[in-house]
Amino acid sequence: MKPNLNYKNLEESYLFSTIAHKVNAYAAVHPQAKILRLGIGDVTLPLAPAVISAMHAAVDEMGKKETFRGYGPEQGYDFLRTAIAGYYARRGVKLEENEIFVSDGAKSDLGNILDIFDRDNSVLIPDPVYPVYVDTNVMAGRSIHFAAATAQNGFLPMPEENTEADIIYICSPNNPTGAAYTREQLRAWVDFALARGAVILYDAAYECFVRDEALARSIYEIEGAKECAIEFCSFSKMAGFTGTRCGYTVVPNALVRSGVSLNKLWLRRQTTKFNGVPYIVQRGAEAVFTPEGQKQIAENLEVYRRNAHVLSDCLDGLGIRYTGGKNSPYVWMECPGFSDSWKFFDYLLEEANVVGTPGCGFGKNGQGYFRLTAFGSEASTEEAAQRLRRLLGK
Ligand code: PLP
Repeated sequence: MKPNLNYKNLEESYLFSTIAHKVNAYAAVHPQAKILRLGIGDVTLPLAPAVISAMHAAVDEMGKKETFRGYGPEQGYDFLRTAIAGYYARRGVKLEENEIFVSDGAKSDLGNILDIFDRDNSVLIPDPVYPVYVDTNVMAGRSIHFAAATAQNGFLPMPEENTEADIIYICSPNNPTGAAYTREQLRAWVDFALARGAVILYDAAYECFVRDEALARSIYEIEGAKECAIEFCSFSKMAGFTGTRCGYTVVPNALVRSGVSLNKLWLRRQTTKFNGVPYIVQRGAEAVFTPEGQKQIAENLEVYRRNAHVLSDCLDGLGIRYTGGKNSPYVWMECPGFSDSWKFFDYLLEEANVVGTPGCGFGKNGQGYFRLTAFGSEASTEEAAQRLRRLLGK
């Protein structure tokens, strides 16, 4: 037996463990310090009441012989796929139900989707970015090109003459930079992919934060995208499902390469290797799209938006450059006076007891940057902003 030696090429990710280690070491020596954590990208507000009552009802159904459900359809129950199609239709995007695949979250699907691509495809991944794209391709032994996301291009790389790619990752609004593509910019990527026969893997996990009319929430708002893009989405940030686990992936019927329907390949992959999301969770996810559910999740999202505003307002006042914070829960700031993200991390921890995420943990272009998240409580975000003002306004 020969193991998959590509795993040896993975870079060890010490990002969150190093953060935890540094914070714990500091807290041990300064037990009185009130440390404010704006580092981890997990939500803090609970599930909406509409979701909870739908899940309770589903639990009761599971306890009765007449309404008990066993294995469900691998692609998701019709009731949820219909609700998701309705969510897109309200934004002017028409999807067939068989194009929607319900999953246990975007992370799994972003990794699993590689099953339907040949190993020899070249991959283009932005740098910095959500690390899952890089690691899953390294595991598969694929060669990766990086598209530099820098202050010069507003952290939104665009296709260039010599860009090499069969598979293109786009994450918008982006984790970690918070930058989001306009429809015009996405059109350029769609045209590029169509011209080369490439496929775009579009991660829309943060689409619910988009407010600006010029920005796309789905790549299918762009003409031609159904012939070249797969979209990944999640209930995690939209409705607090990080621990409940539900997402969905859209693989359009029009997406065909070498005469093969990618929708059919993904259907085959999912029905072979996946047994679906629990009925109870899918009923909870369905409730997100009811008028009541929409109103309740909007209230939670508004809290995170206000937090993002508090942080970006603080940086505006300090004259520190940043992206995100407006159509995203992430604020990506330059480390003022520091070229090394980790040195800035230590400085903030020691001098203000505020924790964020060093940008270099998301790719080499993240060096000198720092990610703050809006997922904390309102009180701790306010207090963190005050401390940043005091420390960095000196
Ligand atoms: N995509 C991006 C860009 C993310 O930041 C995350 C989670 O932080 C995910 C996907 C994973 O989402 P899920 O919880 O649905 O697996």
